[in-house]
Amino acid sequence: MSWDSEYDIICVGSGVGGLSAALTGAQQGASVLVLDKFHLIGGVSALSSGQLWPGPTHLSKAEGIEDNDSDAQAYINHLSQGFSDPDLRESYLAQCRGAIKYFTDTIGLELQVIKDLPDYYYPAVKGSAPQGRFLEIKPFPATKLPGEWASKILTSPYGDGFSYVTGNEFVSMQLKGGEHVGTVLQRHVKADERTSGAGLAAAQVYAALQRGVKIQPSTEVVDLVVEGGRITGVIARDASSSSTKRIRARLGVLLATGGYDLQPNMVRGFDNLINAGNMTIPTITGDHLTLAAKVGAVPYPAHPSALTAIFVGYQIPGEIIYGKPTWRLLLPGAPHSFIVNSRGNRFANDSFYPDVSAKAGRYDGQEQGLVNWPAWLVFDHNFVEKYNLLPAYPGQPLPQGIAVSSDTLRGLAEVAEIDADGLLSTAERFNGFCKTGVDEDFGRGSLPWGTIMTGDYSLPHPSFAELAKAPFYAVKLHRVTVGVPTAGLPTNGDGSVISAAGHVVPGLYATGNSAAYRDWGAGYNSGVANMRGMLYGYKASLHMVKEAGL
Ligand SMILES: Cc1cc2nc3c(=O)[nH]c(=O)nc-3n(C[C@H](O)[C@H](O)[C@H](O)COP(=O)(O)OP(=O)(O)OC[C@H]3O[C@@H](n4cnc5c(N)ncnc54)[C@H](O)[C@@H]3O)c2cc1C
Repeated sequence: MSWDSEYDIICVGSGVGGLSAALTGAQQGASVLVLDKFHLIGGVSALSSGQLWPGPTHLSKAEGIEDNDSDAQAYINHLSQGFSDPDLRESYLAQCRGAIKYFTDTIGLELQVIKDLPDYYYPAVKGSAPQGRFLEIKPFPATKLPGEWASKILTSPYGDGFSYVTGNEFVSMQLKGGEHVGTVLQRHVKADERTSGAGLAAAQVYAALQRGVKIQPSTEVVDLVVEGGRITGVIARDASSSSTKRIRARLGVLLATGGYDLQPNMVRGFDNLINAGNMTIPTITGDHLTLAAKVGAVPYPAHPSALTAIFVGYQIPGEIIYGKPTWRLLLPGAPHSFIVNSRGNRFANDSFYPDVSAKAGRYDGQEQGLVNWPAWLVFDHNFVEKYNLLPAYPGQPLPQGIAVSSDTLRGLAEVAEIDADGLLSTAERFNGFCKTGVDEDFGRGSLPWGTIMTGDYSLPHPSFAELAKAPFYAVKLHRVTVGVPTAGLPTNGDGSVISAAGHVVPGLYATGNSAAYRDWGAGYNSGVANMRGMLYGYKASLHMVKEAGL
């Protein structure tokens, strides 16, 4: 076997999963190569909010936040709904705590607790906590990166707000009257201090370069090399020359290629979505599934697709990002707005996206159809003036072509093709709830996470204000995937890939969204996707190094 080059560990993909494995491997003395087929580094992770959900850690303890594993475990157990592997589920908290300690104390990542941010399902689910379990990177000055690296790492193409405001700054503005995020944003942009997923990616790349990791964008792994049943390397194609190289991985290959958002057959088959939009980069094409098929590993749907973290959102006609049409996710719940189905009825707690998403996908046995889909975000002109829909800021015209409008709700129902009587009676009932701040139908405003994200704390009831000011608008919603899939490769606690026959595939590992959510199960809490990437990237490299006796 002849090789063009040799490393100990090859990480395929440069999101949080690939970079966490690279950092761990290099720290343990291995030579590491990270390959990414996109021309920028960081994956979907870098355009995410960058939240991590490890449960209680040394960081929450240092903040004096009271929490315990027994509560956090009860929360995880409930969300799993019996779908996760009990061993993986029960070791998640301790393993995450170890991984976070390693990345802060040994690698030097500066993580912080997002204060006052409750678990998604607090206080509805037993064991949920009012704060302390979310972490994020502190603002990272990209000026620290050597050479051209600052321009080679992804920041969000959906607006600077995603990459230059911390969760702490946002929550503090919402709950404590802290500095407005617009001011914070300008300061961070000026200093190129990256936050959220972009900050995490920049900090990880910085630490990886310091440890001699070789990071190569625009290089696609097109095949795995198998010798005697063991994965010993990859075939990689250079985007600029289309030539391929055989690269040896002495200890192992880690698949960290994310989900399969840009592969419509997989989205339809595994996520049960037809014509879904997505908010990821164009290279999230399920390559881990096709690559690992060669060695007998088959995709494992870890939980019901109805509970996958799929958002609702909207599409701006003609908006192209990275050469492809794109969608924008909607965090619903701003005052002066609600969400209805074609009967004009609200159907969910529309201040909390997981409830909207799960119920939008509800299949009705009696009607043999999706009773709540299509759905519309309906709002009045107050909404446009005070909150609006990105990329439009408050008071600006709505992005062109996304909404229909009318001076009356009845007229709006007609142009949107929503049942008019249904919409009028929904608006009347909703406006009534706005007086009391109590949604007697769907508990809008009852989950603080949702209220913090979109509520207006200058109002007596932050998630409520009437639809009263003409014109009225309706935006037809889309289902939007964000790189969090239903299916992935089955792996064990070391991140080793398990074949359909139930054997570990020697030398092959997977992490992040490439690894099935067997540890977690059904329900989702923000921060779990990024945390799993970090955790099993770390575990995989530790395992490779240990096996090799390095
Ligand atoms: C707007 C938004 C906000 C989000 N916020 C959060 C959050 O706060 N917390 C959270 O936990 N999750 C969040 N998510 C989801 C989360 O970002 C993803 O689930 C996570 O980033 C996946 O990480 P990963 O390492 O598995 O893969 P990714 O970060 O998706 O990286 C995969 C990489 O693999 C590369 N690749 C693919 N195929 C190949 C190949 N054949 N050869 C070489 N390279 C390849 C891709 O180019 C890509 O760079 C958010 C997502 C979005 C869109």
